[in-house]
Amino acid sequence: MSTGLGVSPTAAEQALLVYCESHRDWVVETTLALARLESPTSDKEAVDRCGRELQQRLEAIGGTVTRLARAEAGDHLRAEFGSGGSQVLMIGHFDTVWPVGQIERMPLEFRDGCLFGPGVFDMKAGIAVGLLAARALREASPSAGRLVMLWTSDEERRSRTSRAVVEEEARRSRAAFVLEPGLPGGGVKTARKGCGEFRLAVHGVAAHAGVEPDRGASAVHELAAQIVDLQRVRDLGPDVTLNVGMAAGGTLPNVVAEEAHAVIDTRVSAAADMDRVIEFVRNRTSTVPGTRIEVTGGFDRPPLERTAAVARLYERARTIAGRLGHDLREGATGGGSDGNFTAAVGTPTLDGLGAVGAGPHALHEHIEVDSLPWRAALLAALVADVWASA
Ligand SMILES: [Zn+2]
Repeated sequence: MSTGLGVSPTAAEQALLVYCESHRDWVVETTLALARLESPTSDKEAVDRCGRELQQRLEAIGGTVTRLARAEAGDHLRAEFGSGGSQVLMIGHFDTVWPVGQIERMPLEFRDGCLFGPGVFDMKAGIAVGLLAARALREASPSAGRLVMLWTSDEERRSRTSRAVVEEEARRSRAAFVLEPGLPGGGVKTARKGCGEFRLAVHGVAAHAGVEPDRGASAVHELAAQIVDLQRVRDLGPDVTLNVGMAAGGTLPNVVAEEAHAVIDTRVSAAADMDRVIEFVRNRTSTVPGTRIEVTGGFDRPPLERTAAVARLYERARTIAGRLGHDLREGATGGGSDGNFTAAVGTPTLDGLGAVGAGPHALHEHIEVDSLPWRAALLAALVADVWASA
């Protein structure tokens, strides 16, 4: 496999790189404009404000934008550039995990070549990189084809209202490029775990803990036994993990608990493990006589698996990045993204192509400003490469 390092870029790649480098101020300004409009997933008004700004910017660079209205979340945006049968998808989200007002605690500021601020890394700079790549393809490249962008408003809340449109658009696309943050150092993500969430409720029988404890059936005692038993999930596969992140139950110390529940997060690397995990978590036998167990939930993201098609796409990206002077690494992550959906419907997917930086969802969230132009050039060159191979 060629890293491309030390090899000169092609004339077309060089033109894309020159174009992106000369629009460095524009990509930074775009990042700032989107980051200033704080957009927590649960605040429709705020997310839509950011979406309107993004829509204007997409239209200004020649995109045909469709607003996918949602009542329960911010509206999603679909933008189309160019035409032709060979469609390439860029995907990302403009919601963030930060509440409105966070920007006062974490002001947007430049320090040591980095831009700090809420949502810059995950993933407003990634959106700006996508926009610059689209401009470069229109203005500095002879390549032609159809580019569709999908910018969603609820990725940080499990993509509840966007999953169907993500899958539908991915099915129409020859490749999906996900502009989520890169791995430390800028590597791309060629595998992501699938994510499941379950709620386990135990129904017991209340009784006076001192007077007649034997007439009760403790939901809390049963829940404790279940939490211990659930750890056996690790036997189902090497990469299967499970976390009981929340647990609650009972009303008072002197009452045998009538109700208790836990919320469980579980992750798998292989789609083949999902059914076994579901079966294991759902099929529970109670150990405290008189209690009853009820389990709801399931997997809301299948894993992004490193299939041969994903590996091929990565190798092409690595070769192009090398010619642009960067060693593009790859890696896996336990976190999910919309790339899980695009990969699971069979579309070759490369994730983590957004900005280089650190601290997603953390107070020190930042991007490396110098990364923006070359990431945009890499993305544009990749799109052109997929079009050319149609
Ligand atoms: Zn993200």
